[in-house]
Amino acid sequence: MHEYLIALSYFFALAIVCIVLYAFTYFLPQPENQNKAKSTFYFRLILLFSMAAMAALLLRFDYPHVFTNILNNLFILLLGYNIMFAIYTRYDTDITKRQLILCGTHSVLFVLVLAAIEYYFTVGYIRATATLLNILVPYLLALKKCHTQFKTYRIGDKILYFSLLVLLTVYVVYIALYMLFYFNEKQPPIILYFISLLSSICILFFGFALSIIYSLIGKLRKELITDRLTGAKNRNFLNEVSRKLFSSAKRNQIPVSILLTDIDLFKNINDKFGHATGDKVLIAFVEAIEKALRAEDILIRIGGEEFVILLPHNNINDAKHTAERIRSIVEDLSISINQQTINISASFGVSQVDVNKSLDDNINDADIALYQAKHSGRNSVVVFNNNDK
Ligand code: GH3
Ligand code: MG
Ligand code: MG
Repeated sequence: MHEYLIALSYFFALAIVCIVLYAFTYFLPQPENQNKAKSTFYFRLILLFSMAAMAALLLRFDYPHVFTNILNNLFILLLGYNIMFAIYTRYDTDITKRQLILCGTHSVLFVLVLAAIEYYFTVGYIRATATLLNILVPYLLALKKCHTQFKTYRIGDKILYFSLLVLLTVYVVYIALYMLFYFNEKQPPIILYFISLLSSICILFFGFALSIIYSLIGKLRKELITDRLTGAKNRNFLNEVSRKLFSSAKRNQIPVSILLTDIDLFKNINDKFGHATGDKVLIAFVEAIEKALRAEDILIRIGGEEFVILLPHNNINDAKHTAERIRSIVEDLSISINQQTINISASFGVSQVDVNKSLDDNINDADIALYQAKHSGRNSVVVFNNNDK
């Protein structure tokens, strides 16, 4: 009776944690992607299976051990498969019929193996080791999936990957403790079960929750620094990146140049073809420039049809050539919208960054040059000259 009460209290303690975590899952930000949202469903199943595994241990006071041990270990295997399903859907991968068949067949075979172990062996750690080895199948598949995502170096993915590694450590420690302290015992010690299940669900919950929250933060941050219409970066990014770029340029004595460009007579395009077409022209303009730039160059929309391009490792002469190249690409651009072909041109002001001046002052230099380009007939490149101030 005493032992039963202890087991019952462990069950209730685990059930309370599971219910609280289950409730928390409703407050986690839901990914828009339907498939990814399913990972929360599988996470809830993980909680249910861990409660079921603990409940199966309680049954051993009333039912034959063979039956309750098999049930308990089967729930642990299913818990492992739900970890795999949760990770797969988290990374937008459908759960295929093949994986469901794998789960079903594996469960049936596992029950047969457990029955054989119950029949032939009198010590419990053999069963525990068999369970660990079996759970490794879905677990390693989940880890493999996580590993491929890990290469993207996003912090949320790393957290999920490490929580799976910690989980594996918990299981290995569980078996080690079992063998060390309960070598000859037939029954699993309830406290060990309780601790390993409790730590598993907590590790998984925090892994999942943090990975969802971090990917949301990443998405919001991207939106914060990106111009919605054209996909170019926006002013928020300019302030952030210029600080880093200017200080690294100062430290390493790297030249950095600024191009300031503005589409010529853009108002006429809006007036003639409509604002919606004007928008499409802006998108085509950005696409053409992005294609012409190197990976390290940064294109930023700072106004309606006005853009800053930061060119690291470009002195004023390099920048002038880059500006000329882009000007000519824009001039040759034929933008087809609604069976109409629209041609545009742009003017460019070029200045080399003086790292001792503020960002605004540096842009202002390029702006003086741009003003001259506009006044000298547009569709041209003018380099800032300090004497023009
Ligand atoms: P200039 O050669 O001197 O630069 O002449 P401009 O007509 O390009 O210059 P102006 O500044 O007079 O006009 C800019 C126009 O750009 C006015 C504004 O309606 C338009 N514009 C600004 N933002 C957007 C936008 O997001 N979409 C569209 N379609 N038009 C925009
Ligand atoms: Mg303009
Ligand atoms: Mg303008």
